[in-house]
Amino acid sequence: MKKKAIGAVDIGGTKIAVGMVDDRGKVLAREQSPTDPDRYAAGVASIAEMLHATAQQARVQIGGIGIGSTGPVDPFTGKFGNVDFLPGWRGKSPVKDLTRKFRVRVALENDGDAAALAEAGWGAGRNKSRLIYVTVGTGIGGGIILDGELYRGVDGAHPEVGHQVVDASGPECSCGFHGCWESLAAGPAMVALMEKDVPADYPYRSGLTAKRIFELAKQGDPWAKRAVDREARFLGLGLANLINLYTPDAIVLSGSVMKSSGLLLDGIRKTIAEGCRFVPAEKTKITLASLGDDTNLIGAARVWHYRFGKRFRAR
Ligand SMILES: [Zn+2]
Repeated sequence: MKKKAIGAVDIGGTKIAVGMVDDRGKVLAREQSPTDPDRYAAGVASIAEMLHATAQQARVQIGGIGIGSTGPVDPFTGKFGNVDFLPGWRGKSPVKDLTRKFRVRVALENDGDAAALAEAGWGAGRNKSRLIYVTVGTGIGGGIILDGELYRGVDGAHPEVGHQVVDASGPECSCGFHGCWESLAAGPAMVALMEKDVPADYPYRSGLTAKRIFELAKQGDPWAKRAVDREARFLGLGLANLINLYTPDAIVLSGSVMKSSGLLLDGIRKTIAEGCRFVPAEKTKITLASLGDDTNLIGAARVWHYRFGKRFRAR
């Protein structure tokens, strides 16, 4: 009898990663393929193929399947909502289709919630009962865990931490507001704000990325340093709001922008200390995610454990 592992499926707007994850959160095998936004059936067929292939590579039997997906998704019916960038997936349920194909139990959550569950169960948030996970990359997303349980809104809705307004006079956001956290502090926002800031003859203007800005700041470029300070300020404001609202045990930070956390954390902490005076903000641990680039994949497996396995209860 082969050992069992959970088949993990991480569905993003551009790629789908699939892997086998053991019951300690270790990735035993992984594969990925590009997402076809229009063709759902082909997407599910490719997921099934990768599940079989990775199970074979890891020499395990698939004991269940966990899915973390870009949203909106309904965690209970497993159906895709109005996902802008996956039009062909709307109304479809990979939970139903993979259950039929594999005859195991399948659970699905929004990918921010999946990653929050992974960090809470196997990562930097272990033993933290109230935890907020925030990922800062091309957008800002996250998941909230309160008293050891994933927080869900009305009808299971996933809260959008990235769309809290940080500066109402800020840039327009796709959600309809101006100055959302995401429109000010995600990687592309950092670039857009710096491009507006620098003089016309600024030598590094073309091809600026968030990563490049951090490199330039490290080399002492004053414009890039200004951009990094502004980034830390905006990140700090959004995190301070979360601390004022939830006073969590920990906030776990992840995403491509946080790879340069060394340049950001002091500024973030300074902003939080400045404004969170009526809550014990110093007790909220600001920490980096510990599961690395596979957080979302590991999170997908954790979704299965959270739904069907023995519940983790960190107190
Ligand atoms: Zn918004």
